[in-house]
Amino acid sequence: MSAADFSSDVLEMFFGVIFPQEELPEPIKPNIRPGFKRERRKYNRCPWLMTGRNELCGKSCLGEYCNAHSLLIRRGSKIPLPCLDCGVGVRSELQLCFDCGREEVRRRLKREEIAYCLQ
Ligand SMILES: [Zn+2]
Ligand SMILES: [Zn+2]
Repeated sequence: MSAADFSSDVLEMFFGVIFPQEELPEPIKPNIRPGFKRERRKYNRCPWLMTGRNELCGKSCLGEYCNAHSLLIRRGSKIPLPCLDCGVGVRSELQLCFDCGREEVRRRLKREEIAYCLQ
């Protein structure tokens, strides 16, 4: 009696079954294609308008905004809007930059507001 016969006999004795001596299945190999380049993940470009400049942040990010600007938004920072006149990023509610006469407009509005209140 060989050693293999002996072990299967023992198994039969304990479990009442003969374990088939099957070969283990081949491990599944990853589908590697030679020369195949992994496509770069599609990143978003941060659409945050830089204040005082007519350009977007443009940093690649997985979310809507880049890490720095997501943090600013989470901290309650106002997202800059383009100046209605020249398009640079402004945080002012008047949506005009200083060069386009924001302060002028602000003063005028203030006067009108006061005039309205005095009526
Ligand atoms: Zn950004
Ligand atoms: Zn402007």
